[in-house]
Amino acid sequence: VTRVLDAIAFDGDDTLWHNEGLFSMTQERFRALLADWVSPEELDARLLETERENVAVYGYGVKGFTLSMIESAIEVTNGNVDADTIYRILSFGKDQLRHPVELLPGVEATIDALAGRYRLMLITKGDLFDQESKIARSGLADHFDVIEVVHEKEPDIYRRVLRRNTIDPAQFLMVGNSVRSDVLPVLELGGRAALVPYHLTWELEVAEPPREHDGYWELEHISQVPELVARLDGDG
Ligand SMILES: [Mg+2]
Repeated sequence: VTRVLDAIAFDGDDTLWHNEGLFSMTQERFRALLADWVSPEELDARLLETERENVAVYGYGVKGFTLSMIESAIEVTNGNVDADTIYRILSFGKDQLRHPVELLPGVEATIDALAGRYRLMLITKGDLFDQESKIARSGLADHFDVIEVVHEKEPDIYRRVLRRNTIDPAQFLMVGNSVRSDVLPVLELGGRAALVPYHLTWELEVAEPPREHDGYWELEHISQVPELVARLDGDG
C-alpha cells in the first residue's frame, strides 16, 4: 500500500515555539524608550516601513529587526538620538535573542505521535545562527530527520529542499502558522499544507488564505495534525 504522505514538515517560529510575542515585547520597550520623541503609532509605522525595506537587505530575524529599530530611531529623532539610546536598543535585541525558547502547547505530543512513521522535517526561515540556536534550545532537534534553515519560503526554495531530500511534493505536508510562507508556496508546488494560526501575525506575513483547495486545511491546534494525517492515509 502506498501511503499518501511520506514527509511532514513543521515551521518553527509560532508553530513549534513562541516568537512573534517576543517581537511585540521588544517593540513595546522600543516605543517606551522613544516616547519623548514620537507617538507609538508614528513609531510603529516608521519601523514597519523600515523593516519592509530592510528585509531584502538583511533577511528575516532579530538582528535585522534591531538594525531597523536603530535606523527608525535615527529617523524619528532627525539624527538626534544619543549613543545611550542606541545602546539600549542593541540590548533589547540581545535580550530577545537570549530569551528562552518556549514550546507551544501540544507540540511534543504531536511530534512524538508522528515520529518513526513519517519523515519529519523542520523548515524554518530566518537568521541561520539564531535559528540553529533556537532549534538546539528547543530540545526537539533529535526528533527531526531533516532540518532546513532557509532565508525565504518561496516555491523555488521548497522545491530545492524537497529535491535534495528526494521527496515527491504530492507526498509532502507542510504545517505552519503563515499562509504566505507555509501554505501558498507549498500548494503551488503540488504539496499539501495545514495552517495552524498563531494569535499574532507579523504584518509582513499577512496573506489571504486559499478559498478552496483539496490539499489545504485550517486547524485550530497543532495536536490535530496526527488526526489529519491518519485521515489522509486512511488508517484513522
Ligand atoms: Mg512561523
